[in-house]
Amino acid sequence: MRAVLRLLPVITTHRSLFVETVVWSVVTQSAVLAIALGLAVAVGHVVAGEPVDLRALTAGLATLAVLAATTAWRESWVSHDLAYRLIAVLRGRVFDALRGALPARTRRQRTGDLTTTVVADIETLEWLYAHTVAQILSALLVLSVSTAVSLSLSPLLLLVWVPLLLVGVAVPLATARRARHDGAALAAGAAGLRSELLDTVRGLRELTGADALGDQLERITEDTRAHARTQLREARRLGLERGIADVSLAGAALGAIGIVLLGRGAVAPADVPLAVTVAVAGLGPAAQIADLLRNAGTLRAAAQRVGDVLATPPAVDRRPAGRSPSVQDEPGLVLDHVTFGYGAGRPVLDKFSLHVHPGQVVALTGPSGAGKTTAARLALRLWDPDGGAVRVDGTDLRDLPDTDLRHLVAVVPQGSPLLRGTVRSNITLGDPGATATMIDHAARAAGLLDPSGGLPLGLDTAVGEHGTGLSGGQRARVAIARALLRDPRVLVLDEPTASLDPDADAAIMEFLTRATDRATLLIAHRPDTIAAAHTRVGLPGPVQRADSPAGTA
Ligand code: ATP
Repeated sequence: MRAVLRLLPVITTHRSLFVETVVWSVVTQSAVLAIALGLAVAVGHVVAGEPVDLRALTAGLATLAVLAATTAWRESWVSHDLAYRLIAVLRGRVFDALRGALPARTRRQRTGDLTTTVVADIETLEWLYAHTVAQILSALLVLSVSTAVSLSLSPLLLLVWVPLLLVGVAVPLATARRARHDGAALAAGAAGLRSELLDTVRGLRELTGADALGDQLERITEDTRAHARTQLREARRLGLERGIADVSLAGAALGAIGIVLLGRGAVAPADVPLAVTVAVAGLGPAAQIADLLRNAGTLRAAAQRVGDVLATPPAVDRRPAGRSPSVQDEPGLVLDHVTFGYGAGRPVLDKFSLHVHPGQVVALTGPSGAGKTTAARLALRLWDPDGGAVRVDGTDLRDLPDTDLRHLVAVVPQGSPLLRGTVRSNITLGDPGATATMIDHAARAAGLLDPSGGLPLGLDTAVGEHGTGLSGGQRARVAIARALLRDPRVLVLDEPTASLDPDADAAIMEFLTRATDRATLLIAHRPDTIAAAHTRVGLPGPVQRADSPAGTA
């Protein structure tokens, strides 16, 4: 349960709501218990032929019933409010962790797994936050009252319901290992299926083209069946355990009556209803705790996956130990003897140096795998170099707050993703506060407003998920406009014009080379694009030899 307990401290972010939940839960349980005990005492009086003040009893029960109903409604309201707030906090933390761990994480994890963690696993934890802590506390209250009343009537009564309570808790404990296993298998099965479905939807065109859709659907059907078998096994176990709990409850009632009958005199006739009531009430906490234990497998698996994402170390240190002194008179982007590798083994970049001055467009070239995209990632500080430094206008990127860095440096990555919305909403992702003139300027520079741009509704043209509805060239222009909107000091473009026709490519290159105060690093393969840049720097091969900086532009 360590994985589950690790996520409990999130409650401290909404401490007052949590305290309120506990208070309402305890008041509700106390009122319900008082109703049951009050009725039992009244029936006992009737059995013993003693008078009962019906008006006072009715008034008391009615008051308690209204109190129980009101506090139960309030408790349910507050506990769900709390649970969904905590889920939002958790989702924020998961996205923070993912942002910090990018891009390594996305390369290793399937999107289906991440979607499952962000959506389904976090929602599973709703149960933990809404139905666990306060309920356990009030269950303990019921348990103590039942024990106290049983002891005052006859300690023999404890012999009836305490063993049944232990059975109620012991059964889910005994099956805990299987519950854990099934919970993990269910979570993994759901995540796998989600990944497969996402892959299939995304690759529908390719699968149809390769006549492989039938095979893929068969695989999905088989995996769905395997998942359903695990679900069935889980349902059988839950059904059996609930059956045992119900039999225990009936056993407690019968046992209490049995004790009264067998040990005549052990409990006075007037106390018989009370004895049966406390025996049954005493098992309530067992039901609550058993419910928690029954759900423990699923809860633990979900908590484990969420905890794993939260524990992912960031790719870059968010709080650098100390500032390095700025370098004077060094405008633009500098990679200064940068060494970097993604893991153990030979580095991708080894003592690589590059200087892009403001007003300059430098084309970074080299064979596939040479490290061009890696250099772009270092310029945006998605990673930190293992050796050397990356600086903008003389300041080490590690000394810049994230927001300053994002304003100074903009990157147009390969296959820049677009979101559902319009061309305009995709451009303004780069700067949500941009004015209409700024948007128009960026869109025009990227060639989106040219008559040849082919956008039927201009900037209001709809964009589907992943940019569907736009051509490859139009998508590239939107990505470029998004980066230009921020008017960055350093612009890094990773093969931005590869999907454009030569005229459009030339027009964008002409715009880029006209800027006088922007340092532009351009990763390109097309000879025309490279020729349009001011200077060219080549990365020699997949692994650069030590002590041979690629050059300074
Ligand atoms: P291309 O021209 O094909 O885009 P590139 O020059 O841009 O190639 P990079 O993408 O920088 O090359 O990759 C350089 C090397 O680093 C490659 O061997 C690649 O497999 C590896 N690599 C890139 N990203 C990662 C990552 N996140 N984790 C591990 N290895 C990576």
